[in-house]
Amino acid sequence: MDNLESAFERITVTDENDNQLVTTTTTYHKSKGAVAANVSITGLASSNNGANRMKLPLQKLAAANSSKALAASIAKVTLASQAARDHPSDENQPQAHGHRRTLTESAIYAQPSTPKQWHLGMFEIGKPLGKGKFGRVYLAKERSSGFVCALKVLHKNEIQQGKVEKQVRREIEIQSHLAHPNVLRLFGHFHDAKRIFLILEFAGKGELYKHLRREQRFPEWKAAQYIAQMASALKYLHKKHVMHRDIKPENILVGIHGDIKISDFGWSVHAPNNRRNTMCGTLDYLPPEMLRGGGKDNFYTEAVDLWSLGVLTYEFLVGEAPFEDTQVMTQRKIMRGEFTVPSFVSSEAKDLIRKLLVLDPEKRIALEDVEKHPWIIKHCAKGGERAYNRTSGDKIRSSSERES
Ligand code: ATP
Ligand code: MG
Repeated sequence: MDNLESAFERITVTDENDNQLVTTTTTYHKSKGAVAANVSITGLASSNNGANRMKLPLQKLAAANSSKALAASIAKVTLASQAARDHPSDENQPQAHGHRRTLTESAIYAQPSTPKQWHLGMFEIGKPLGKGKFGRVYLAKERSSGFVCALKVLHKNEIQQGKVEKQVRREIEIQSHLAHPNVLRLFGHFHDAKRIFLILEFAGKGELYKHLRREQRFPEWKAAQYIAQMASALKYLHKKHVMHRDIKPENILVGIHGDIKISDFGWSVHAPNNRRNTMCGTLDYLPPEMLRGGGKDNFYTEAVDLWSLGVLTYEFLVGEAPFEDTQVMTQRKIMRGEFTVPSFVSSEAKDLIRKLLVLDPEKRIALEDVEKHPWIIKHCAKGGERAYNRTSGDKIRSSSERES
């Protein structure tokens, strides 16, 4: 993967602060040309017996070498997200598990010493999963391992025209070094003359935003479990000095087990940065310190994600963001920290929201304390990191809290 990263580096300018894309030095001549011809949007029915494609089992990614000997080995494969949940810190090693699916397809396991050189011909492309501002995402299957993933296709000219080379590079650089069950994995990337391809973990249940709109608002147990997972993911990111800066339901995907995956690292940074000039989309999740004037001196920290977590908690429980209004009014309300929580929200949940939506970034509740907060404890058997662990099963939702 390091090789690929350095290859990708070569297609853009090396100066982080320069927005211009200068030259293209493609290093993967082999993969050009022939590749495009190999691919057709045929769907992945063959591995699926006509069942719902979105329920295709995720398999261990062949993170490394695809030598024939390895490819021929038959392995028992665990759903990747399941394995990640059992072993959040390791690289999704296959695990014995009640939900394990034994597949007779070959699977190859990580060979860290031999970085994989991906190209499009290695993937069977399936149905489109969605369309973003800069490209499309397809369900895909790595041919040699049968590993199911999402392939995000970005067009270089659009990235250039949109002046988002930096964001794309950031997304790749940051996301490829992250491995947490609630952070969407980026397994690798490659490019051809016109496109950049991101090999992403497939999130079988799609966008959280759509679930929220469909359900209008989440029951408290579900909101609490999602927030616990978010806290766990953010704790992991902040430990790695990554701030996400764009936490909102649109940037959260849902895995086949209903566990959530933070995605969209385009805005995330390792160091404080100024986003004001390029601000776009909704203001609802922006913390006061990012709205405040002060130009280049405007400095903010990981605590921006805590504010957004508060907005998220509110939106999960209420169905709309706390500062939702006209642009001017939203901005004003954020700056003043003005919001009201409807009476149907429990007092524990209100308490957490109030401890997150604090104007002074320093005074916001810490992620460790979010995980220990009474509202989280009440709805998650063993706190944040265990909230989605199957072994704690039904204890996750206490029967009195269960909806329906
Ligand atoms: P933007 O261009 O603003 O980032 P976006 O996040 O919607 O918008 P993409 O990240 O390109 O754009 O994704 C487009 C859509 O494809 C998503 O909204 C989602 O529905 C779907 N999608 C993206 N990645 C995955 C994935 N890994 N698994 C499943 N579906 C995905
Ligand atoms: Mg996106």
